[in-house]
Amino acid sequence: MDLSEVLQVMNLKSLHLQHQEIHLEKLERYGIRLVIKREDLIHPFVSGNKYRKLKYNLVELQEKGYAKLLTFGGAYSNHIAATAYAAKEQGVKAIGVIRGEELKAKAGENPTLNFARKQGMELHFVSREIYRTKTQPMFLESLYRRFGDFYLLPEGGTNALAVKGCEEILVEKDSAFDYICCAVGTGGTISGLINASTVHQKVLGFPALKGSFLKNEICNFVSGKNWELIEDYHFGGYAKISASLVNFINVFKEQTAIPLDPVYTGKMIYGILDLAEKGYFSRGSSILAIHTGGLQGIPGMNQILKRKQLPLIQ
Ligand SMILES: *Cc1c(COP(=O)(O)O)cnc(C)c1O
Repeated sequence: MDLSEVLQVMNLKSLHLQHQEIHLEKLERYGIRLVIKREDLIHPFVSGNKYRKLKYNLVELQEKGYAKLLTFGGAYSNHIAATAYAAKEQGVKAIGVIRGEELKAKAGENPTLNFARKQGMELHFVSREIYRTKTQPMFLESLYRRFGDFYLLPEGGTNALAVKGCEEILVEKDSAFDYICCAVGTGGTISGLINASTVHQKVLGFPALKGSFLKNEICNFVSGKNWELIEDYHFGGYAKISASLVNFINVFKEQTAIPLDPVYTGKMIYGILDLAEKGYFSRGSSILAIHTGGLQGIPGMNQILKRKQLPLIQ
C-alpha cells in the first residue's frame, strides 16, 4: 500500500495545512510575528502530530503484513484515540495497554477510552507499576503470549518512522521563520522538526511534563544542535492544569478563534507569549508555532475540572 492509499483510507485526501497569523497587541508591542500552523485541522481524531507519527508506521505495518497492532497510553491519551481510529480505518485490530487498573470499571465514563473502544480497540488495563515496565522484555513477552503477534508502537507512537513523518510538518516556505515552536511529550515531534529545520532557525520545545530524560530521547533521533527545551511552562507536570491556564485558553480562543488543548498546545502558546513579554525574542523575530492538535482531550479534562469546581474549557 502506498502513501496516497493510506491517506485515502484515512480519509485524508487533502491536508488543510493552514498558516494563521496571530494579531495580539502584546506581540505587536514587542515587534514579534507569530503564525500558528493548524495541524489540528488535519482530522478530528487523528489530529496533528498523531497523524504524522502514525503515517509511516501504518505503511510499515501493511508492508510487513501485520493484522494487529498494540500500543500504550494513559486514560486521556491523544495517541490512543488516534491509533484506535486509524487502525479501524485500516482494518487492523488494535490493542491499547492502558495505565491504571482502577480505570477498568470506569472506562465507560472516560470520553477518550469510550471513543477508542467504539473504534474496536481492545483495552487492556494494567497497574501503574507494570505500566512503567512497558519497554522491558518480560512484560512485552507476556503481551505476545496473551495477544499473539502484533506490530508494536511505543507509547506516544514515537519511533524512527514517527520522526520521519513529523519531518513532513515543515515545508519549504517555513524556512522563512526564525523560530519553530512545539509542545513536547515523548520528543518524537520536535525531533522531526529539528531534522527538517534549517541551521539558521531555532527549534524551541515546550515540555508538557517534568523530567530531564527528554533531552536524551531527542538526541537519539537528531544530530542538529539548533534547538532548546524551555522547561518553565509545564504548570506542575503532565496534564496538570490551573484556573489561570483554563482562563488563558478561553481568552485566546475568543481573541483568535483558535482552540488550544490543555495538556500541550495551551501550555506552549502561554509560554511563547510569556517569553515574548520577558524579552526572549528580539524585535523583528518571526515564530511558527505548530498546533499539534489534541482537542479530543478537552471533554475528559472538563470532567476533571468540573469535579475540582474549576472553570471549564469553552
Ligand atoms: C502527543 C502530543 C504532543 C507530544 O508529541 P511528542 O511527539 O510525544 O513529543 C504534543 N501535542 C499534542 C497535542 C499531542 O497530542
